[in-house]
Amino acid sequence: MVIHPKIRGFICTNAHPVGCAAHVQQQIDYVKQQAPLSMVPQRVLVIGCSTGYGLATRINAAFGAGAKTLGVCFEKEPSEKKTATAGWYNTAAFHAAAKKEGLYAHTINGDAFSDEIKQEVIARIKEEFGQVDLVVYSLASPKRKDPDTGELYSSALKPVGQAYTTKTYHTDKDQVTEITLEPATDDEIAQTIKVMGGEDWERWIAALHEAGVLAPQAKTTAYTYIGKKLTWPIYGHATIGKAKEDLDRAAAAMRERFADIQLEAYVSSLKALVTQASSAIPVMPLYISLIYRVMKEEGTHEGCIEQTHRLLRDALYVENPELDEAGRLSMNGWETNDATQAKIEKLWNEVTQDNFHQLADYAGYHSDFLKLFGFGIEGVDYDADVDPVVAW
Ligand code: NAD
Repeated sequence: MVIHPKIRGFICTNAHPVGCAAHVQQQIDYVKQQAPLSMVPQRVLVIGCSTGYGLATRINAAFGAGAKTLGVCFEKEPSEKKTATAGWYNTAAFHAAAKKEGLYAHTINGDAFSDEIKQEVIARIKEEFGQVDLVVYSLASPKRKDPDTGELYSSALKPVGQAYTTKTYHTDKDQVTEITLEPATDDEIAQTIKVMGGEDWERWIAALHEAGVLAPQAKTTAYTYIGKKLTWPIYGHATIGKAKEDLDRAAAAMRERFADIQLEAYVSSLKALVTQASSAIPVMPLYISLIYRVMKEEGTHEGCIEQTHRLLRDALYVENPELDEAGRLSMNGWETNDATQAKIEKLWNEVTQDNFHQLADYAGYHSDFLKLFGFGIEGVDYDADVDPVVAW
């Protein structure tokens, strides 16, 4: 099969196996060029391990610290006629690279919100390494089925309290327009918290603790985005922000509840980046195209692999890490500091349909977007006939 990108709205509906493998390899190469992450422990569970921040954390743990990694993801396998999702190919490439270096890696593909997958993971931990020292929670999902009631909850990406009118960039139409986003109902807010809040993270940690597979002084972290004024109306102070506030609640509750093993639970706040999850959020493509421009000029631009490398090296595994006002590990300062935000805000106010491509680094945004699906990567022959069926 010759595979070219099929883009529909904010998503690409296919993926390139060779390109995804090359993208994973680029991240492995980055990690190997850094000093080893010798303080990172050896038994790591990553929930949401196949793309974006979760995949990058897994790559850092495995190739930076030599850790054994167990991953959970929800990806579609390929057939002769249809490519797999990018996360499937990424995972296959990660496994192949880990195997080459003699690194243990196992991935369970299924619904992380379910009790069955939690039990499968626990059984695997018992079988393979007894306990885990680090649990990374990096899920991004539009839906969650509550395992107790069977009820299906959907998250909404809407402002809270009042309608919000703002500029946005439609990636499919190449258009800068104004949009008005209507405020969420109470039910939409509650459902978003159910999907993206801390309940499932706590459920994971409780199940692992109950089964005795959390090592003493184990750490766990879940990822959040805090942002600043420009994104607050659609993120920080919006439905998704309410869900993320619930992560702060969950972290504090877990530290208390699992004090017997001195569990260290942190929310880590990361910068805005192009991932499958963020490209679905209105306004984000415009905002990220502008921060790419500013942060590249400032020399502070990072991708998922660089952010999670610094998180492990400078925050999660240092004694007395610096915490923000809500007790989070904060890795987004290079984006959210006042001077950088002022430059972004100036561009934001100036940007129009006519000057968008001059003011914003949309080329950088789009190139990163394509890379998520294995496209646009140097050295990959996109006219070659490739087999979409890849196993891990
Ligand atoms: P992503 O879409 O790249 O990754 C999501 C991962 O979750 C994938 O591995 C996917 O397979 C997995 N997943 C989704 N539903 C699942 C399910 N039901 N069962 C098992 N696995 C499932 O997203 P991302 O942007 O890397 O987001 C990860 C976390 O980082 C999220 O909490 C997000 O809010 C946070 N974050 C993202 C950004 C950003 O700009 N992208 C910034 C800060 C924080």
